Amino acid sequence: MARLGLQSDTDLALHLPLRYEDETRLTPLAALRDGMAAQVEGVVADCRIEARSRRQLIVRLRDGGAELLLRFLHFYPSQQKSMAAGARLRVRGEVRGGFFGLEMVHPVVKAVSEHAPLPQSLTPVYPTTSQLPQAYLRKAVAAGLARAPLQELLPQELLPAGLPSLREALQFLHHPPPDASLEALLDHSHPAWQRLKFEELLAQQLSQAQARHERRDLRAPPLRGLQSDGLTQRLLAVLPFALTAAQQRVSAEIAADLARPQPMHRLLQGDVGSGKTVVAALAAARAIDSGWQCALMAPTEILAEQHFRKLVQWLQPLGVQVAWLTGSRKGKARTQMVERVNSGEAALVVGTHAVIQDDVHFARLGLAIIDEQHRFGVQQRLALRRKLAEQAGPSESARGGDRAGLGSMHEGGGRAPLEPHLLMMTATPIPRTLAMTYFADLELSTIDELPPGRTPVLTKVFADTRRAEVVARIRDELAQGRQVYWVCPLIEESESVDLRHATQTFEELSAALPGHTVGLLHGRMKAPDKAQVMAQFSAGTLQVLVATTVIEVGVDVPNASLMVVEHAERFGLSQLHQLRGRVGRGSAASVCVLLYASPLGETGKARLKAMLDTHDGFEIARRDLEIRGPGEFMGARQSGDALLRFADLQEDSQLLQQARRIAPLLLAQHPQAAQRHVQRWLGAGIDFLKA
Ligand code: ADP
Ligand code: MG
Repeated sequence: MARLGLQSDTDLALHLPLRYEDETRLTPLAALRDGMAAQVEGVVADCRIEARSRRQLIVRLRDGGAELLLRFLHFYPSQQKSMAAGARLRVRGEVRGGFFGLEMVHPVVKAVSEHAPLPQSLTPVYPTTSQLPQAYLRKAVAAGLARAPLQELLPQELLPAGLPSLREALQFLHHPPPDASLEALLDHSHPAWQRLKFEELLAQQLSQAQARHERRDLRAPPLRGLQSDGLTQRLLAVLPFALTAAQQRVSAEIAADLARPQPMHRLLQGDVGSGKTVVAALAAARAIDSGWQCALMAPTEILAEQHFRKLVQWLQPLGVQVAWLTGSRKGKARTQMVERVNSGEAALVVGTHAVIQDDVHFARLGLAIIDEQHRFGVQQRLALRRKLAEQAGPSESARGGDRAGLGSMHEGGGRAPLEPHLLMMTATPIPRTLAMTYFADLELSTIDELPPGRTPVLTKVFADTRRAEVVARIRDELAQGRQVYWVCPLIEESESVDLRHATQTFEELSAALPGHTVGLLHGRMKAPDKAQVMAQFSAGTLQVLVATTVIEVGVDVPNASLMVVEHAERFGLSQLHQLRGRVGRGSAASVCVLLYASPLGETGKARLKAMLDTHDGFEIARRDLEIRGPGEFMGARQSGDALLRFADLQEDSQLLQQARRIAPLLLAQHPQAAQRHVQRWLGAGIDFLKA
C-alpha cells in the first residue's frame, strides 16, 4: 500500500479504478452466445480431470436444461474440491464455442449459496502491484472512502453548474451503478470526473495564488550594489563585447527586482546563444557588491564547469572568490570547499545541485541562480525551493548564531527571516498556457535578440544512408580550421548499448579522418575525464567531438561550425533546438545535419519538419508542447513526477478557465475554505509546482 502511495483515507478515496467489471447481473446459461463476456450461475453436474493433449480440469455447470463447460489448464487440488459435483458456482468469463458446446477457459469462480445477493454497482478494478491482491485493495479503498473527510468545502454558488459533490463524485467513480455510461467513465468526461479534475485544478490555482500572496510578506536583502565604479561596472568594462539592447533591458529588470526588500522570483528566457550567462554574471556581481553570496546552479557538471571557468575568468581578476561544488568532488576537497561557502569566504559558488546538499549552509546567501531550470526535474525543483527557503530560514540561529563580522540573516527578532532572490534561466521558453498555470508566480524577462554577427545555422535533414557525404562535409570544415560535434542518441534507454554505439562511431570517424583528432564524451565517463575532453575541445586540440547527449545544454565553443545529430528522430524537439544552438556561435556560417533512420514515424516527421521550418525558440517550444504534451515538456518523466493527477491541461482547458476565475473569488470571499481545500489536496500527497 505504501508503494502505491496509499497512506491515508483520502489517498485511498483518490485511488481510482482503472476499469470496471459488471457483476451486477446473471445471464442464464441458455442465453449465452459465443464471444460474450458474462456472469452466470449454476450447479456443478460433474468435475473431473482429463488428460487430452495435456492434463486439465473440466467442470460441467448446469442451470435448468442448459450447460456450460469450464476448462482449467492450471489448477490446485483445492479448486477441484471447491468445484465438486453439487456445488453452486457464480462464474465470470468469456464464452467461446468449443467442440463440446459452449465453454469458458479459466473463468473467475466463486462458490455461493442459493439466492446469494448480487452487487448493486459495477466492480472496480484498481491499479495495484503484484503483491497486493485486488480483493484486499477493494476492501481497503471502500473502507477508506467511507472514512475519508470529504465534506463539501466549496460554496455552492462558486461551483460550476451540474457537478456532483466531491463525496458523490468519488462514490460514483468507485462504485458506479450498473446503468452508468462506461464510455464517459473511461474517457473521464463524466460529471463525476469533471468534479474531481475541477477540484484539482482549483487547488493548483489556489496554491499559486497563495504563493504569490505569501511572497509579498517575505523579506529579502535589498541588493543595490555600489552606484558607480561598483563590481557590475567593472565587470562591464572588462567584457570583450558590449551588451545587446535586450541584455541591457533584462539586466535592468533584474537589478530593479534585486534592489527590493522582497525576494525576486524571475525567469529569464532567451534562445540558445542569446547570452544569458553574462546577464547572470551581472546579477551575481550586484549581489556580491552588496556584501552577499550568490549561488549558481547548472543541471550537469560539464555545464557547471563551463560557467565556473567563465565566471572565474571574468570575476576573479576583480577580486571575487569563486568556489566550485559538484557531486564528483568528495572527501576533503569537498569539506574544504563547503567550509569556504559556510564561512562566507567564497562570494560566488558555482556547481550542480550538490550546491544545496545538507552540509552546505551559506553564510549569507542573497541570490540563487538556476541555469537551464527546465532540465531539473519537477521533484528536484520542488526540493530546491524548499532548500533555498531553508538556507535563509529559521535554522540560521541554530547554526551557531551570529558569525562574527558576517552578520546574521535575521535582522531584528520577530520578523520574517530573509530569503534569497531567485533567478531562473531557460532556453526553452514556456508557452502561454503553461506560464498561466504552473508559472503564475513568476516574473518573466525575455532576451529576444541574438548578439550581433551571428549567421543563422543552416539545417539539413538526411537519411542516415548518406553518412559518407556527411563525413566528406566534416573534412571540409576541418580543412578550414573549424570544429565538429557528432551527437549519438540514447538508444533503447540502455546506457551500455548507447555507449557501444558512440564508441563505434568514434572509431569509424577516427579511421575516416586520418590526421585529425577525434574525442569521445559519454555519460559513463568520470567527471574529471569528461571535463578534460571538454577542455580539449574548447581549446581546439580536439577537432571532432563524438558525444552522447551529455553535451546538450549550454556548451559554448564558438569555433564549432558543424553539428551532426544521429537518429535525430529520437530526440525531443527542444533538445534538437538546443543541440543546433551549439553551433553558429562564432562568425562562421554553420550547418546542423539531422540524420534519421527510416522509416520515420509521425512524431519524428513532425519534429524534423519543425526544425526545418523555424529557428524561433518560441515557435519550437509551442510545437514541442503540441507533440509531447505538458508533462513531458516540463521534464516530468517518472510517473511520480506527474504534475496533475486527474486533470489534463489541454483537454480540460475549460475547467482550467473556470478554476482560474473562481480561485480569486474563493480567496477573497471564503479564505478559510480556500485554505482547507488546498490542505486537502496537499495532504493527498500532491505537491504543486510553484515555478
Ligand atoms: P546562452 O543564452 O545560450 O546561455 P551564452 O551566455 O552561452 O548563451 O552566450 C553565447 C555566446 O555569446 C558566448 O560565447 C558569449 O560570450 C557570447 N555573447 C554573449 N553576449 C554577447 C554580446 N552582447 N555580444 C557578443 N557576444 C556575446
Ligand atoms: Mg547557457
